[in-house]
Amino acid sequence: MRIVSSVAVMQRIARHWQRRGACIGFVPTMGYLHAGHLSLVHEARKVVGKAGKVVVSIYVNPTQFGPKEDLSRYPRDLKRDLKLCRAAGADVVFTPSDAEMYPGKATGRYSTYVVEEKLSQSMEGASRPTHFRGVTTIVAKLFNLVPPEVAVFGAKDWQQAAIVKRMVADLNFPVKIIVAPTIREPDGLAMSSRNRYLNPEQRAQATILCRAIRRARAAVKGKAVSATKLKADLQMYIASAPLGRLDYAEFFDPETLQPVTKVERGSHLALAVYFGKTRLIDNGRL
Ligand code: AMP
Repeated sequence: MRIVSSVAVMQRIARHWQRRGACIGFVPTMGYLHAGHLSLVHEARKVVGKAGKVVVSIYVNPTQFGPKEDLSRYPRDLKRDLKLCRAAGADVVFTPSDAEMYPGKATGRYSTYVVEEKLSQSMEGASRPTHFRGVTTIVAKLFNLVPPEVAVFGAKDWQQAAIVKRMVADLNFPVKIIVAPTIREPDGLAMSSRNRYLNPEQRAQATILCRAIRRARAAVKGKAVSATKLKADLQMYIASAPLGRLDYAEFFDPETLQPVTKVERGSHLALAVYFGKTRLIDNGRL
C-alpha cells in the first residue's frame, strides 16, 4: 500500500493505472476510521476486483466546516487509519495537506467552489449553511485527482450521497456512485468518528436516534400517517433522552429529498440530535 500526500504523485499514479486499463475505486473519508468506513473500502474492492485499484482518501476538509464547528478538534489517528486501510486491502491512501488541496487559500488566491443549489438547502444544509459547498467542492477536486470509475459513499450521510449523485449527473463526471448501508454498533447507534466525543451518559442515550427511526417505522406499518403528527410524536419521544436536543427530524422522498406530508412505508426519515456540542445524525427508510 502506498501512502501519498502529494497531488502531483497521486495524479502520476492514476495516469499509470489508467494506461494499464485498471479500474479505480475510491472511498473519500475524513479519517479516524471505523467499521463503517472499512465496509466502503471492502465494497470498492468487490466492485473493482483483484486487478482493480482502491484509493482511500483521508482528509479533514476545512471548507465543509462552519466557523463554529469542530474542525480543530476533529479526531485524527493517521497511524491507526493506515494500518486499517492496509488490512482492508487499499492500494493507495491519499492524505494531502491543506496546502496541497487548497494552494493559494492562505493568501486569498483560491476562489472556485462547486455548489449544488437544490438538494443542499434542507436538513444538514439548513443547519450547516456552507457545509455542502465544501463537500461538493472537495469531492469534485478528488474526482479530478484520483479519477475513479466507481466511488463508494455511506448511506449514513444520505443527503450527502444524494447531492454527490446530483453533482456527478449535472457536471458529467464519469463516475459511478455506490451507496453502501450504514454500519451500526451492537446497540444500533450508527458508527461515526464523532461518537468518541460522547461521555458515557450521552453515549447511552445516543441510541435515541436509531430508536426514533424504529418507532417511526412501526408507526407507518400498514398505514400512512401525517408528517406533522409523527414529527410531534418523535419530538416527545426524543425528549425522553434528556441529554439530547433535537435539531431536526424530516420525512422525505428518498430519491428527490422532497418533504412528504403523508409518511408511509418507503418514506425516509433523517434526524440530527445534539448531545452537548456533539451533533449526531442518522436516517433510515421507513
Ligand atoms: P466521514 O469520514 O465521516 O466523512 O465519512 C466518510 C464516508 O464514510 C462517507 O461516505 C460516510 O457516509 C461513510 N460513513 C460514515 N459512517 C458510516 C457508517 N456508520 N456506515 C457506513 N458508512 C459510513
